[in-house]
Amino acid sequence: ERYIVIGAGILGASAAYHLAKEGKRVTVIDRGDKGQATDAGAGIICPWLSQRRNQKWYELVRKGAAFYPSLIEELNDMGETETGYYRSGAVSLHYDQFKVDDTAARAVKRREDAPEIGSIEKLDAKETQKKFPLVSDEYISLYVSGGARVNGRDLRNSLLQAAEKFGAVRIYGHAEPLRDKDKVHQVRVGSEIFTADKLLVTAGAWAARITEKIKAPMYVRAQKGQILHLHMPHVNNFDWPVVLPPKDYYMLHFGKGHIVAGASREDDQEYDTEVTVGAINEILTKILTVAPGLKHASLVETRVGTRPFTADSLPVIGKVPGLNNVYTANGLGATGLTSGPFLGEQLAKKAMEQGLNITEEHYDIAHTMKNG
Ligand code: FAD
Repeated sequence: ERYIVIGAGILGASAAYHLAKEGKRVTVIDRGDKGQATDAGAGIICPWLSQRRNQKWYELVRKGAAFYPSLIEELNDMGETETGYYRSGAVSLHYDQFKVDDTAARAVKRREDAPEIGSIEKLDAKETQKKFPLVSDEYISLYVSGGARVNGRDLRNSLLQAAEKFGAVRIYGHAEPLRDKDKVHQVRVGSEIFTADKLLVTAGAWAARITEKIKAPMYVRAQKGQILHLHMPHVNNFDWPVVLPPKDYYMLHFGKGHIVAGASREDDQEYDTEVTVGAINEILTKILTVAPGLKHASLVETRVGTRPFTADSLPVIGKVPGLNNVYTANGLGATGLTSGPFLGEQLAKKAMEQGLNITEEHYDIAHTMKNG
């Protein structure tokens, strides 16, 4: 059976890998949009402390986090050792003890069906600074040992390389599917036509433009996110945890003094990929109050990504209504590096007509179809 996957962010890369691993003939087409979300994503994998109450969302991120260790092991076994994944632990910073206690209670409860949270420890200001030396002394924190970070670029590349080892073919370019009655067997890239039995659309924030063409209009909203890459000379921060301050901004450590701090959430900018002084200023102002020690860091790069959201901000996955051989998943939003590898595997299973490990009706594509 031949499959075409349009879009090679984290979702498409994972779907392609899992299809190829099952012996399917896979062609992955990606045009490398400047705002690819996977390319810019921070890489926090720590869904358990979130206050977001939506259970359907939580099921995906919990299973997504739990899916990582076995996937990474599999990739390592295939010689893909640069996955960018590391369980560094995470600290959730607070001013007040009752907030730490609340967060701890939530984590303990969630650990019942998420043992991957690992150990849960309340830290005083000194212990917090021991974990993250740059933090101001006004914070206490909750530490969870299972928190992890991932470099989206590295993981995407590892998955695509592993897929190629199983025979997948990668094409660079703008893919245009051609509908024929209730099927799509052909995809045009420039002057070339590729044919397949089944099509997977994993085109992130740009997916609606594709499904529009095959008369299955989807609603996908884009959110611009800017994120800073900083460098602290002579700092060995490989083992430092993911740092989650009380508000929206965060810091991750990738070793050799490399620190990632983000991120803006700009709903009014959608597909724009310009770096703006406003966003840089906002992020720096917030993180410098949390971690004054960062004032010696240099600003190396600002990345910009376009997060994909559905109509109700909940991911969708399944067969595209009205089309017999087209499958899609979308709307991974701000937590797609957590859920993406798992959802990609689930999408591959869906396309192969295998049973899924999620409550499928919760993520019905119809939720985000314009005529649905
Ligand atoms: P994308 O990665 O955007 O990939 C879609 C691909 O489809 C693109 O490469 C595009 O070029 C291609 N494409 C589109 N149309 C076509 C076409 N017609 N032909 C060919 N190719 C096409 N998640 C977390 O879990 N933790 C985090 O800490 C985190 N931080 C983030 C920080 C920022 C600043 C951003 C922007 C995102 C963050 N995310 C995080 C979210 C995560 O990055 C996204 O949810 C996820 O990467 C979405 O993956 P995707 O594969 O759906 O889309």
